[in-house]
Amino acid sequence: MATVGRPKRGVPEGLWIRCPQCKATIFRKEAESRFNVCPECNYHFYMPARERIRQLLDQDSFEEWFTDVRPKDPLGFNDRIPYAERLQAEQAKPGMLDAAVVGRGYIRGRPVVFGVTDFAFMAGSMGSVVGEKLARAVEEASRLMLPLIFVSGSGGGARMQEGILSLMQMGKVSCALGRYEQAGGLYISVLTNPTMGGVAASFALQGDFTLAEPGALIGFAGRRTIWYTVRLELPEGFQTSEFLMQHGFVDRIVPRKDLRTEVARIIDYCEH
Ligand SMILES: [Zn+2]
Repeated sequence: MATVGRPKRGVPEGLWIRCPQCKATIFRKEAESRFNVCPECNYHFYMPARERIRQLLDQDSFEEWFTDVRPKDPLGFNDRIPYAERLQAEQAKPGMLDAAVVGRGYIRGRPVVFGVTDFAFMAGSMGSVVGEKLARAVEEASRLMLPLIFVSGSGGGARMQEGILSLMQMGKVSCALGRYEQAGGLYISVLTNPTMGGVAASFALQGDFTLAEPGALIGFAGRRTIWYTVRLELPEGFQTSEFLMQHGFVDRIVPRKDLRTEVARIIDYCEH
C-alpha cells in the first residue's frame, strides 16, 4: 500500500491507495474509474496531462503542437543536481519533454485550443518552454479565432534554474493573452491542485472565466513562506478554491466529472 502526503507524482503505484484527505484506503481502480477522485470524500488526486486531455477532450481529437520545443540550460545552472541532468531525468518519464502540452482539439464537438501544465514535470514550473508553448498556443487561438482552454497544475511558478528567462515568461504569456482579449477571444482558465507562484500570478488568473476543481490549493506564496517572511498567520482554508470563490477570484467550482460539460456550456453561452 502506498501513502500520499500531498500530490507529488500522481496516484502512486499499487492496488490500494490512501486518500490524503479522509485517510481511507481505497481501491486504486475505483479512484481511476472516477477520474482520480476519492469515492469516499471527493478528494481530487493529481491528474497527468495526457489523462487530462483524454478526459476533457473528445476521443482522439487532440492534435499536439510545437512538440519540437525543448528546454535548454542557458545558465549552466547547478544546485543539488545540475539542471541539464535534472532535465534528462524528468524527460525519461514517458511523453513529456517539459511541463506543458498544447494543441487543438474538440470539447463535445466544439473546436478549441487547449493547453495543460503538468505537476509531474519539475512541479509544473514555468520555464522558457512552458512560456513559449503557452504563448504560441494563445497566438494560434487568436489567429484561428477559437476558444482557449488552459488547465493549470503548477506547484512552483518560475523555474529558478532558468533565472530571469523563466520570469520573463509571465510577461510573454500575459501579453499574448492581452492581444487575444483585444481580438475578442474567449479564454477559460481551469485551476487544479496546485496552482501557485508565477503561474497563478500570470495566465492562470487572467481568464474570462476562472473555474477551479474542489479543494485545490491556489495562491502566490505558500503558507510557510508567508509566515517566514512577514510573520502572518493565514486564516483557515486560505488559498483553497472555496475561499477564493467566496472572495471573487474564482467564478465557479466544478467537480472533475462535470468539467467537460461545463466548459462546453460556457463556450455555447458566449458564442450565441
Ligand atoms: Zn478521501
